[in-house]
Amino acid sequence: MNQLNRFEDENLVMADFFNEVLVACPSCAKKAIAKVTFEAKKVRLFCLHCGHNKEVTAEFDKHRLLIKKPANQFFDVELWLKADFKNEQFWAYNDEHLNYLERYISATLRGHKERTHFTLLEKLPKFYHEAKNREALLKIIAKLKSKLG
Ligand SMILES: [Zn+2]
Repeated sequence: MNQLNRFEDENLVMADFFNEVLVACPSCAKKAIAKVTFEAKKVRLFCLHCGHNKEVTAEFDKHRLLIKKPANQFFDVELWLKADFKNEQFWAYNDEHLNYLERYISATLRGHKERTHFTLLEKLPKFYHEAKNREALLKIIAKLKSKLG
């Protein structure tokens, strides 16, 4: 791959990934999902492996129909997509979030518009941005992707 791999910040923010979060099932420890149902104004945790199913009422931002925190935080559960990296933790809410981080980390040219200190990428801890970490981070991403199955 000799071509320069360019990435532009799509100005996504963390909240763009709040509605659907992959978690470890509290019953069987396999992959489960915490997901918002807007019509019912609820957040539901369900597991296809063991049938674990729990639903709670969520508070929504009135204007934008958004929940105020990621779906996993309505339950006492661990994120499914996370891995230790040195003394830090690499994590993603869901496969879309993971793919977005992958595209950013694998890019050799990173486009930055005016900095707002607001987008998800701008808020990432320093280790995500360092070129020397690229290869190790991409390995972690590959490992996490294999857990998506
Ligand atoms: Zn389960």
